[in-house]
Amino acid sequence: MEQQHSINIVNSSFLIGMPILALVSVIFYSLEYGISWTEPIIFVGFYLACGLSITAGYHRLFSHRTHKAAWPMRLFYALFGAAAFQNSAIKWCSDHRRHHSKTDKEEDPYTVKKGFMWAHMGWVMVEQEEEVVEHVDDLYADPILAWQDRNIFLIGFLVGIVLPGAIGYLAMGSLQGFLGGMIYGGFLRVVVVHHATFLINSAAHTWGTQPYSTANTSRDSPILSFLTFGEGYHNFHHTFQADYRNGHKWYHWDPSKWWISVASWFGITKDLHRIPKTTIESRRMKTAFQKQAEGEHVSSELQDRLTGCVQQMRKGLSELMKRREEYKAAKQERKKESKEAWKRRKEAHKARIRECKLRIDQARLEFKQIMKSFKLNNQTVSLPA
Ligand SMILES: [Zn+2]
Ligand SMILES: [Zn+2]
Repeated sequence: MEQQHSINIVNSSFLIGMPILALVSVIFYSLEYGISWTEPIIFVGFYLACGLSITAGYHRLFSHRTHKAAWPMRLFYALFGAAAFQNSAIKWCSDHRRHHSKTDKEEDPYTVKKGFMWAHMGWVMVEQEEEVVEHVDDLYADPILAWQDRNIFLIGFLVGIVLPGAIGYLAMGSLQGFLGGMIYGGFLRVVVVHHATFLINSAAHTWGTQPYSTANTSRDSPILSFLTFGEGYHNFHHTFQADYRNGHKWYHWDPSKWWISVASWFGITKDLHRIPKTTIESRRMKTAFQKQAEGEHVSSELQDRLTGCVQQMRKGLSELMKRREEYKAAKQERKKESKEAWKRRKEAHKARIRECKLRIDQARLEFKQIMKSFKLNNQTVSLPA
């Protein structure tokens, strides 16, 4: 049944008005005053503070509880998250938790099934029949978030618009500085952070790969990660939402994970939750197999080979982790031994690690062969004898 929506005037005016205001004021300002180093620096500073407050704060800390953070960090996220003008953390998380529990369904507030533009920003621009705020009691219990929720617009205005202006004023010592800071660190930055976030709901559910699950529309897109502080690995995120990383490999571009991780060195964040490599790897194998097997007849022999292969991979990876831990512990104790004795022990440790790696390589090779035998099977079926 087609639902009729009435427009939410406040949100729509803001989402349409702000880009126009940003564009007009940037042109006016540039013609009048030109541009110095100050404005771009304020822009980048506020882009980072507000962007990370949404991805590392609103998303990975508050919505998914993937780690813990000390109160100064939570306050930082509350202040600069408000400055991103995406509602209070409590309301944002309520919507987002529903997005995860009901992905692609009618109850998903920004389901891409209603269209790319609906998921991108349409859902914010229509009037909700009634505002549903649920499953966020844990967040109301945090006095910082409860305070932010009560004063969201005032905090947003002060931190998102007035503060960049004030910094510009201090940097340049004139009204021009205030205008420059407000236009670049306020108006323009609000628009850029808005659409970067919106792309996660639209583009990350439309374009990209699905290495971990095909159960919903979420996709992995490394390109999107460059624009969104690492949130482009969205298929991984929907599959393993308890992980504080979205790009789980060290080389995956995920500044939010680096930010959370560096903060943990100083004790500002702690209890960073990681999904074990064995779980991630076996999930990836099973999904690749399932995708290949879709619509095909899978022999029980091939199914058994896959099960064996996944088991071998899991065993190999968990043993490798154990062996590495043992080696690390041995390294710490080596001072007590003679050089010769340590050398012998070191070699033994390294040999055991090599053995594990070999077993993992064998499992990878076996997996490749399983996938290949799919292709061969298909060819024999489709080629005339
Ligand atoms: Zn999420
Ligand atoms: Zn999503």
